Amino acid sequence: MCGMARPALWLMIFMFIARSAIAADTPPEWTAPQAPLRLADNLYYVGSQDLAAYLVTGSAGHILINANLEQSPAQIRASVEALGFTWRDIRIVLNSQAHADHVAGIARVLAETGARDLVMVGDAEAIRTGGRSDFAHLSDALPLFPAARVDQELRDGEVVKLGDLELTAHRTAGHTRGCTTWTLSVHLPGEAADVHHLAVIVGGVSVLPHYRLLDTPGRHASYPQIAQDYRATFQALRALPCEIFLGAHGVYFGLAAKAARSASAGPSAFIDPQGYRDFVEAAARDFERIYARQAAEKKGAAVEM
Ligand SMILES: [Zn+2]
Repeated sequence: MCGMARPALWLMIFMFIARSAIAADTPPEWTAPQAPLRLADNLYYVGSQDLAAYLVTGSAGHILINANLEQSPAQIRASVEALGFTWRDIRIVLNSQAHADHVAGIARVLAETGARDLVMVGDAEAIRTGGRSDFAHLSDALPLFPAARVDQELRDGEVVKLGDLELTAHRTAGHTRGCTTWTLSVHLPGEAADVHHLAVIVGGVSVLPHYRLLDTPGRHASYPQIAQDYRATFQALRALPCEIFLGAHGVYFGLAAKAARSASAGPSAFIDPQGYRDFVEAAARDFERIYARQAAEKKGAAVEM
């Protein structure tokens, strides 16, 4: 027993069981392979059936959005190479949100490619600490992940440039403090040269079960300004003239159905401005419903006192 105090041993056993439960809870579609898809001339889907990753290819190298789970990089790499691109040509890694299912693979991708890691202010600390500084880890015990280097912190509206590529970072916070929605203008194969479409890759908008949206007696909000951040996020998303609707999870934008349709229709299967608007409004309604419930609890608690 090597002299270990009993409480420490029990804590270790508990942590082991808790971690195994998290691993067992990983939805199968997060790791199930998805054949890579061409979404535009230089934009490709390289994620799994639900955990989205995107490759944006350019004259001076490529950008990868999302490295996903710790075990995902091998799968993402296989998709990148199946498309005929070189893994080490990835020069920049970006992400949607600093939760383990989207960023646990970053450290490995950086090590394998030598890419630079650019992260929205607000999520940078969570990535540097492997989630230890994240309110969602502290309050909901969301899983930790391998910490990764951050080479540059981004501001809302900042444009990431690489050769002929330009991607705009929109801070759409709430789900995480630096949750990021990416936009880029793309051209579809076969369309007239002057026709371009705005692709929007939504970072995340859901309120997780244990998020606290406002201070209630004895409990603080998950982080100060969280409710204001969510509302600003819905306003920012409403203002984007989205044509090609994408996001951090395939389920946000109906990847399975659109991937099937794209087999005959090609990349235009992902043009879905109405689906985008419906998604944003449904998320805003969900948020307001949860906010109202928590506000009512606060009122109830105040009356009881
Ligand atoms: Zn998340």
